[in-house]
Amino acid sequence: MKKKQLEILLERLESFLHPTPEREQYSTPAVVAAFLLHLAYLRGDLEGKNVCDLGCGTGVLAIGAALLGARAVGVEIDPEALRVARKNASKLGVDVDFILGDVGPICLKNVDTVVMNPPFGSQKASQGDRAFLRKAIQVATSVYSLHNLGSEGFIRRFVEPCKVEEIYKVPFPLRRCFEFHNEDVRIIEVELYRISCQPRS
Ligand code: SAH
Repeated sequence: MKKKQLEILLERLESFLHPTPEREQYSTPAVVAAFLLHLAYLRGDLEGKNVCDLGCGTGVLAIGAALLGARAVGVEIDPEALRVARKNASKLGVDVDFILGDVGPICLKNVDTVVMNPPFGSQKASQGDRAFLRKAIQVATSVYSLHNLGSEGFIRRFVEPCKVEEIYKVPFPLRRCFEFHNEDVRIIEVELYRISCQPRS
C-alpha cells in the first residue's frame, strides 16, 4: 500500500472523545502516522511481524501496522480511548488486540517491533517518555518512537546498548484539543527515532 493511501485510510479514524492533558492524549495525525509506519514497513519491521503500540490511545499506529500486514497489539491505560480504538479497528476491518494496562508493569512477550507516540513529559503529572522507552527496548528489537525536538542526546544515552539508527524531523499538525491551546492548528516539529536492539537469547 502506498504511503498516501495509508494516510487517507487513517484520516477516517476517530480521535479522543475527552482528551486529558495530564496523560498527554494527542492523537498522532494521519500524515505523521503514515510516515512512521511506511518507514517501518520499508525496513521490514511490520509485514508478518508482532508489533506493539505502547500507549495506543485511539489506535492509529496499531491499526495502521495491521493494515500493512502486522499482527498488532495496542496497550493503553485509558478504557475510554480503547473503546474508540476498537471501534476504529472494526471501521477499517482489521484485527488488533487491544489491552487495557499500564506500559510500566505490563509483561509483553514475542514482540518484534514497537511503534509509539509516548507522552513527551511536558505536563507535570506525566511520567514522560521514560517508562515507554524502557519497556520498548526491553521487549522489541526495533523501535519507532516520536519525541520532542532536541531529545537526541537523552535518547542515545537512555537506550544504550541499543542504537539509534535513524532520526527524522517531522512536521506535526497539532489540532486544538485543550483549553490552553489558542490556535486551531499549530504545526510543531517532532523527532522520529528508529532504534535497534540485539535480540535477547
Ligand atoms: N499512540 C496514540 C496516542 C498517543 S498519546 C496515537 O499515536 O495517537 C499517549 C497515550 O499514552 C495516551 O492515550 C495516554 O492515555 C497513554 N498513556 C499515558 N500513560 C500511560 C501508561 N502508563 N500506560 C499506558 N498508556 C499510557
